[in-house]
Amino acid sequence: MMKPPVICQCGQPMESGLACTILQMRGESRLPCTPAEAPYGYCHDCLVQPGQLHHVGCDMERCPVCGDQAISCDCTGGEIGGNLS
Ligand SMILES: [Zn+2]
Ligand SMILES: [Zn+2]
Ligand SMILES: [Zn+2]
Repeated sequence: MMKPPVICQCGQPMESGLACTILQMRGESRLPCTPAEAPYGYCHDCLVQPGQLHHVGCDMERCPVCGDQAISCDCTGGEIGGNLS
């Protein structure tokens, strides 16, 4: 059996190559993919192109709050997109 594709919180598969439609993270506008993050013309992890928003959980995305890697910074204590308060 094939594994099902990973679906981003935006509802699109991570490997769709379409820009993410989740616009904010931690109350800030999310940072789009930069050319430096897409040396092959697209993000190696979520396949978006420069100028598009990474999918949630992409390991190339930077946190708009602290500028560190979004999936490893601890602005929210860990979880990305955790809306549980
Ligand atoms: Zn990405
Ligand atoms: Zn997405
Ligand atoms: Zn952060």
